[in-house]
Parts: sequence; C-alpha cells; structure tokens
Amino acid sequence: MSRSSTSVVVVGAGIAGLSTAYHLLEAGFTKVIVLEASDRHGGRILSVIPKEGEGAIELGGTCIHGASVENPVFRLATEWGMADSLSLSDRICGQFREENGEIIDEELVRQVWELFLKMEASMDKIYTERKHSKDFPSSKTFKEYAEETRPQILQEFPEEKERERADKVFNVILNYCRFMNGDELDKVSADFIGQYKSFPGPEMTFMGKGYTGFVDKLADKLPGDIIRYNTEVTKILWEKSTVEVRCKNGQTYTADHVVITCPLGHLKANYKNMFEPELPESKAGAIERTGFGRVAKLFVYYDQPFWKEGIKLAWSEQGQPNTEKSDWTKQLVFFEMLPANPKALGGPFAGRGAEIMESLSEEEVASACTELLRKFFNDPHIPKPTKLLRSNWISNPLFRGGYTYLSTENRSDDMQHLAAPLPDQRRPKVLFAGEATHPDYYSTVHGAYLSGARESQRLIELYEQ
Ligand SMILES: Cc1cc2nc3c(=O)[nH]c(=O)nc-3n(C[C@H](O)[C@H](O)[C@H](O)COP(=O)(O)OP(=O)(O)OC[C@H]3O[C@@H](n4cnc5c(N)ncnc54)[C@H](O)[C@@H]3O)c2cc1C
Repeated sequence: MSRSSTSVVVVGAGIAGLSTAYHLLEAGFTKVIVLEASDRHGGRILSVIPKEGEGAIELGGTCIHGASVENPVFRLATEWGMADSLSLSDRICGQFREENGEIIDEELVRQVWELFLKMEASMDKIYTERKHSKDFPSSKTFKEYAEETRPQILQEFPEEKERERADKVFNVILNYCRFMNGDELDKVSADFIGQYKSFPGPEMTFMGKGYTGFVDKLADKLPGDIIRYNTEVTKILWEKSTVEVRCKNGQTYTADHVVITCPLGHLKANYKNMFEPELPESKAGAIERTGFGRVAKLFVYYDQPFWKEGIKLAWSEQGQPNTEKSDWTKQLVFFEMLPANPKALGGPFAGRGAEIMESLSEEEVASACTELLRKFFNDPHIPKPTKLLRSNWISNPLFRGGYTYLSTENRSDDMQHLAAPLPDQRRPKVLFAGEATHPDYYSTVHGAYLSGARESQRLIELYEQ
C-alpha cells in the first residue's frame, strides 16, 4: 500500500491532532480526516477576546515555554511571520502583597526565589541520579520535599518580621508550583520532577488573537473539509485488519490507522468502554497511574482598570480548601497584568481550589475576587468587575482536567506505555499522541505538537511515497 491509498482517522483537533494531520499530508497521505468532538479546533488552547478590537485572554495554553529555535512552536511562529506578535512574559514581576495590602520588599522576594530554585534543582537531580536504580521511584511527594526545605530557607532570615514575610513568599511559590505541576503538590512525585525537560529561551505570549491565532494558522494548512466538528468518538473497534471508529452522532468511519489524541483526563474516564478489544494492562495501568491535574484560569475584567501593577497573593498560610469550601481563593497565586489586554487581571491556579471555583456561580466567584482585591490592594472601594472570564477544563467531559503530571504512583516506563501503538510497534493500527504521551515535554503545547509529528513519522516510515 502507498501513502496516498492509506486511510488515517485522527481523533481530536487540538495541537497534537492538527500536527499529526499536517505532517501526514505533507508526506503524501491524502485520505486523512480529523474527528473533533467540539465545534472548534485548538482543544486546550482557547483565547477569548472580551471586546472587539481588544487583545485576547488565554483560558488555556498561554506561553511558549522556552522561546528559542529548538522549540518547534516558536520556530513555526517565526516562520509564519508571527514573531512580532510575541511578547515577553515574566511571572516573577508584579508586587508581592500581604493580606493587609503591605508590599513585600523585592530583594526579599528575590532571595527566597533563589533559595527555592536551589531546592528545585536538587529535586531535579533525584531523577537523573536514581532513574536506573532498583528502588526508583521512592514516592516522595513534591510537598514533602518542599516542606522539608522550608525551615532551611527560613533560617536564612534571622529577623522575625523578615522570616514571616519569607514564609509568605514561599507560600506564593508553592501555589505557583501547584499550577506549574498541575495539581495538589502531595499528589505530584518529587522523584519525577527531573523527567520534564525545558527548551532554552524566555517565556513568550501571543498578543492580538492570542495562542488561538497560532492554532488557526496550523489549521489553515489543512484542506478545508478535513476536520469534522461535533463528532465525538465513542468506540474504537480494532480487532480486524482495519479499525472501525464509531461516533456519538451515529456516524462510523473505517480506516487503516487511527491516531488518538484525546486528553488523558478524557481517556481516564472513558477508556474502559471506548476500546474493543480492551486496552492491554500496560496501557490501561499507565492511564490510571499518570496524573491529570486540576488546573484553571480566572480573570477579572474592568472597563476602567484601577491598578498600576499586578499582584502576587502572599497568604499567611497554605490554602487547604478540602475542608472549607469558601477557602478556594487561598490557592490563587496572582492577579497578574496581561501583555495583550490591559483591562484584565488574573491568572492560572490549580488543585482542589480550581475545582471548587468551577462549581460556583459567576456571582459567587466575582464577589470572592472583589473581596480579595479589596483586601490585598487595601482599598475597600474597588468595584465589582465588569466581566468575569474563567475556564472549565476540569468539569468539561472532553478534558476532565488541565494537563499531565507524574504522580507518586507512576512507574518509570509509564510514558512509553502511554505512547505505544497497538497492537505493537511493528503493526501500529491504533496510535497515541497528545501532550501526555511525550516523555520529556508532557503538559505543554510543544510536547503535543512533537507527539503528533512522532506518530505521523511512525506511519510515514511504514509506507512508500
Ligand atoms: C490552564 C492551562 C494553561 C496552560 N498553559 C500552558 C502554557 O503556558 N504553555 C504550554 O506549552 N502549555 C500550556 N498548557 C498545556 C497545553 O495547553 C496542552 O498541553 C496542549 O494544548 C494539549 O494539546 P493536545 O492536542 O495534546 O490536547 P487537546 O488540546 O486537549 O486536544 C484534544 C482534542 O480532543 C478533543 N476530544 C476529546 N475527546 C474526544 C473524542 N472522544 N472524540 C473526538 N474528539 C475528542 C477535544 O475536544 C480536544 O479538541 C496549559 C493548559 C491549561 C489547561
């Protein structure tokens, strides 16, 4: 069989699905279709424009992590003439404020941050030094590791007031780490932190149409009718020589190969009923063990902005919203300013608090945010926001969370199992892409893109032009 006579169905039109289709078509495959459950492409990239003519606000993927030629997303953005629409993003900037509105000295923030980075570097080393040893992983959590380090960091600040403030800065950093790692830090394995690799270069965000502008460019490279929207795949029958794909809307597709790019959260909830025959234990176990975190974005939008700078919320204690529903705000990290839209303040956060936020009414969230802003800006006259913008990744059944992290239950070869085709490497009938399948760059847009390139390459190598 040749590439042009081989049919491929791609499930999901996020970055991984679009990348798979793009690379297959470039290599001479012609019978490629992409089935997307929702009415849009982009998946966990979702930029919203609050008012015509304004810049976008990102409810999902935001930064190009490591904007350098090594990063394929940055390379493509540059090739496609989008470099001018990129802006530097610096999460450390903005004031660290206490609950009474006092601003914490920048030099103290810098010192705590540097001590934290040393701790993180030593956590990174666990993976590289022990990954081949028999007792790896040892299932120590990120939280345990960080809390053991807290006293060592605080002892660098002998003066009591300074120490108290350093403690609060450390709380901000841990809330930030909760977001970066995807969920509560007592679920995240410290041992695997070093598995995640970074590209060199700064963090950059898209101005104007936002990250969606980049996804649109990628989708524009595909023929017009290739993406079938509102087509949720519910069943994959892969026993015969061809694969049958059944959809919720009653349609059925038959193909030589199927590439699954559904988010890990959706797979966790559905894999038992989705595949026939059922998935092998190695794949099912890896799906169960790998973490898929609770991540959210929350923004307040004002017709008349009242701030000069964004703020970091330096709470006096770590939020534990498992007990108190109203405590969800204690996991908020910052109300940061956005390079693309000066009328909004907000940002990402993760964990139980993010899940609670999604379950509340708009009025409840807006009131909680107003109270918080009044407290941290020490200004009782701050009005309610004109608009509230927030994500719903956790409750959306197509996602069931934000992104992948490695949990204390993970085994060192789980990522390989998540990416492995079925029934085996030599006969790849059902293939798996998506950020969760990238062993180094999981949880990122570039990881998703590269996973699509990897699975298309697997098929390209099987067939002559
Ligand atoms: C709040 C947040 C912030 C983030 N920030 C960053 C960041 O700053 N930088 C970064 O690099 N990454 C970031 N990420 C991660 C990044 O957005 C994702 O890793 C990436 O977009 C995932 O792409 P994907 O193609 O693997 O999956 P997705 O984008 O989730 O695409 C999967 C697609 O499959 C569809 N689908 C699901 N089930 C079915 C089905 N049964 N049938 C058909 N279609 C189905 C979905 O609708 C979706 O369109 C962030 C994510 C979140 C949630």
